[in-house]
Amino acid sequence: MIKKGISVSHGLGLARAYLIEDSKVVVSSELTGDINEQLNKLENAILEAEAEIKKSKELAQNLMDDNDAYIFDAHLAILKDEYFLRDVKDLINLGHYASYAYKEVTKKYLDEIRKAESLYLQERSIDVNDVYMKVMYYLDALSRPHLSIDREVALVASDLTPSQTIGLDFNLVKAIVTEHGGKTSHAAIIARTLGIPSVAGIRISSINEGDLLLVDGRYGTVSIDPSEDELVEYAYFLDKIQTKEKRLEPFKKQKTHTLDGQYIKLGANISSHEEISHLKYAEGVGLFRTEFLFMRDSKTPSIEEQMHSYETVLASNKNQTHVIRTLDIGGDKNLTYLPIKKEENPFLGQRAIRLSLANKNIFTSQLKALLLANKYSNLAIMMPMISTLDEILEAKELIKSVEAELIKEGHKINSYQLGIMVEVPIAAFGLEDLIEEVDFVSIGSNDLIQYLFAADRMNEEVAYLYQPYHPQLLKIIKHVINVAHKHNKWVGVCGEMAGVKESALLLVGLGVDELSMGYTSILEIREMLSKVKMTDLTKLVARVLKLKKNDEVLEEVKKYLDKFSKNKGDKYEI
Ligand code: PEP
Ligand code: MG
Repeated sequence: MIKKGISVSHGLGLARAYLIEDSKVVVSSELTGDINEQLNKLENAILEAEAEIKKSKELAQNLMDDNDAYIFDAHLAILKDEYFLRDVKDLINLGHYASYAYKEVTKKYLDEIRKAESLYLQERSIDVNDVYMKVMYYLDALSRPHLSIDREVALVASDLTPSQTIGLDFNLVKAIVTEHGGKTSHAAIIARTLGIPSVAGIRISSINEGDLLLVDGRYGTVSIDPSEDELVEYAYFLDKIQTKEKRLEPFKKQKTHTLDGQYIKLGANISSHEEISHLKYAEGVGLFRTEFLFMRDSKTPSIEEQMHSYETVLASNKNQTHVIRTLDIGGDKNLTYLPIKKEENPFLGQRAIRLSLANKNIFTSQLKALLLANKYSNLAIMMPMISTLDEILEAKELIKSVEAELIKEGHKINSYQLGIMVEVPIAAFGLEDLIEEVDFVSIGSNDLIQYLFAADRMNEEVAYLYQPYHPQLLKIIKHVINVAHKHNKWVGVCGEMAGVKESALLLVGLGVDELSMGYTSILEIREMLSKVKMTDLTKLVARVLKLKKNDEVLEEVKKYLDKFSKNKGDKYEI
């Protein structure tokens, strides 16, 4: 049976389905000898979770209306529900581990709630799950409950949230299938960064645990129990990959130049410092999404933990500039320990720099760690989602005060660059008024497109409005490049457009200085650019800017690439 969805990350993956439900955590169903120990463990976990919820409530009361902090009272009520706890204790008294008992009882309650007709009750399942995650953390005592896999799998989830993916061994993930989320959801970005084939928009109720899935990220299809013919095609695909790897070998040791000598810097996008070992072929980090470091635990990472992470990145290549982006929380990324007021439109709400400026403690700790980690003067700090000059000025003032404090403590402040992401339309159109305050800009095309087209990047129903080739978008990008260059500032692009051959070609033609992308795309983009001439790309751009539609532009670029590969006898496609 073949299902059609949206392609979010190319390639073919074959593995058995592993369904992710919210409450899938690792617990042992074996019996333990010590009932009292488990009862004590449960009691302690409840106390710890209670303290955490109360702290969140206090924080919430400081940040929002008292009325809105009521949700934590609801969480406390769930946590201490005597019937619920009685059921858990009954299972422990039968000899089960506390974590197993808590999980089983939660599952039973969630099943009942989800069956209820009342929408209100159904929505409470989110709260039960929230409390559950907290208690399980304290029962486990070591880490937040995480997904654990020990064999190759095709992950199947309604929506893969960023926090679910933390700590997952992606070497074992051969494909990702989701019901929700578009091309630029964070799950999609992770999939592309790691080169995992991925398809969204699939009704996952038709997939059972253990089904063999052939996920075709090129065409956005998922084949359940694939046919012989499909398996033969898969083998052929693997063979082609090997050929491609051989072909790309010579590009590992080169910088990126067009045939007529134009240098383009190719950076890598990363979400954790651990990825740094994969970046051998990139020229530095063009985007470090630091929010994932803040999402790993139930509290803000200490300054030392942050410094370790930033230092690892900066020391990986002391001669390269590395762009570290300050927190981009909000939208689809949340911190459990920072209660964000429920928003009707989270992507239009208190996200990124807005949240950092509203929570100066966290922002200050990040700035401190960044400046302290900057031992080799190769740091570029980048602020996400800037809209106004005031936001830049307020952030700069904060940075100056952090610097002054560090100097007073006897630290030396090494030089660094400060830049902004251009991803809110007003910053793109009004860049002339912002540019003097910064050293560089990087275009966040994922958000820029989302906000220009007023189309939620997480909503597959409006995925057709993700139009990276739209001539009007290209004109806005051209405007950003022109303004930055007029002021002698460099411009990068770190959205997904930068790592896709057709759009990367246009961005280079438009004049960007840096493309930053998932590291699995670097060699292919380098190979492609090494075979084209800047003079031809400028002509191509002039041609497509006269068109009116996204698809017309894409067709024109594909024609150029096809003609070009025929002339040279090159084959790029896989
Ligand atoms: C972007 O918006 O293009 C970007 C690079 O940032 P993120 O995808 O993390 O929002
Ligand atoms: Mg963005």
